[in-house]
Amino acid sequence: MNLTVVGTGYVGLVTGVGFANLGNNVICLDIDKEKINTLESGKLTIYEPGLQELFDRNFKGGRLRFTTDVETAILESDIIFICVGTPTNEKEEADLTAVKEVAKAVGKHMNQYKVIVNKSTVPVGTADLVREIILKNQESGVEFDVVSNPEFLREGAAVKDFENPNRVIIGTDSSRAEEILMSLYRSVARTDRPVIVTDIKSAEITKYASNAMLATRISFMNQLAHLCEETGADIKAVSRGMGLDNRIGPRFLQAGVGYGGSCFPKDVKALIATLKQHGCDADLFEAVNRINEKQKSVAVDKLSSVLDLKGSTIAVWGISFKPKTDDIREAPSLTVIRSLQDLGAVIHAFDPVAMKNARHFLTGIRYFDDPYETIRDCDALVVITEWDEFRNLDMRAVKVLLRKPIVVDGRNIYDPKEMTELGYTYMGIGR
Ligand code: NAD
Repeated sequence: MNLTVVGTGYVGLVTGVGFANLGNNVICLDIDKEKINTLESGKLTIYEPGLQELFDRNFKGGRLRFTTDVETAILESDIIFICVGTPTNEKEEADLTAVKEVAKAVGKHMNQYKVIVNKSTVPVGTADLVREIILKNQESGVEFDVVSNPEFLREGAAVKDFENPNRVIIGTDSSRAEEILMSLYRSVARTDRPVIVTDIKSAEITKYASNAMLATRISFMNQLAHLCEETGADIKAVSRGMGLDNRIGPRFLQAGVGYGGSCFPKDVKALIATLKQHGCDADLFEAVNRINEKQKSVAVDKLSSVLDLKGSTIAVWGISFKPKTDDIREAPSLTVIRSLQDLGAVIHAFDPVAMKNARHFLTGIRYFDDPYETIRDCDALVVITEWDEFRNLDMRAVKVLLRKPIVVDGRNIYDPKEMTELGYTYMGIGR
């Protein structure tokens, strides 16, 4: 099939490469010329495990092209995936500016029947909006269908998730579009992964419902973590005990310094806005968001309880919003680092892959290429991202390098008993 993927960010690039790898001809379109030039030169613009190899193979094989030429990209494709960003606007709603621009361009350049697929995370009703905009911008009445096909990939495991999704959801009211997408996703269906067809609005809501549920579980545990600290319980023991219940399951029950990333914070806010626009209560999600915002300050509170931050040097391990990605959008590290700087601390920082992005957004920091070098002569260490490589470092050596043996473990990756025995002032979250 001939596909165009509009937007070559984390979702668009993985989707484009993934579909090319299944034998389709894919055009990746973006308005960012620099990004397209980089991709055209054979280099990736994001870090995602396993992506480089697939990219190389399909780019060399000619199944993957990159362009900023919107007209050609639309004319030459049967299916157009909208994968542009939908960030939070000043009203805390999903900003649909880019989605609307794409719909306008599709309407303008459409020459024959096409399926337009909303893969971007967009509020319920957006497929109708896209349809209206296309109709308004068409010169002649070319037939088309708009489908909602929300994306559930996880950064850091995006290639795996593309190849082996838990489910694919196709929201459509057109049997013609359904047939085309079922045929495109045939290879997924063959692996016995469920490909579910629903009405468009249910598909749109399912994406927000899924992210809001995961965010709720995190805020749920973070709120309970405070009770554990007050009473001397251990949130890890609580989450293990809860997670072994089949009705609950173990995932997303970890307390920490809050969730971040380009999805949970903005999607929870957008869901709140959508509920309110439809006259519905949003109390639960407002609480989820509020708890998360507060949680980002716990690491700094813990440090201030044992250290005068003014003039002290604090080492930070982990900047990306989660392991295995270079994405730092809305990462809790940003809040923690900026608060520490506001309180007069000097920051030394290290992240295995997010340093390039960090240097762009976080200034006034000393960056290091090695976790041990980062902590030399620091007054305390804060772990913000649970990268695997931090789990088994030599904590005896760390203690020697630190000026004071203070560790705030924002992701509970170390054992409190072992750390205390080693002589650390160790503070986890909720333990
Ligand atoms: P991103 O910011 O990484 O990429 C968006 C891309 O769209 C950018 O390269 C930008 O230049 C491009 N763009 C913007 N306007 C354009 C236009 N008019 N024409 C062509 N290109 C344009 O975003 P992302 O993280 O890939 O997310 C994209 C969408 O997918 C969002 O709605 C997001 O919520 C959703 N989503 C993201 C993830 C994730 O893990 N990142 C997972 C599931 C769903």
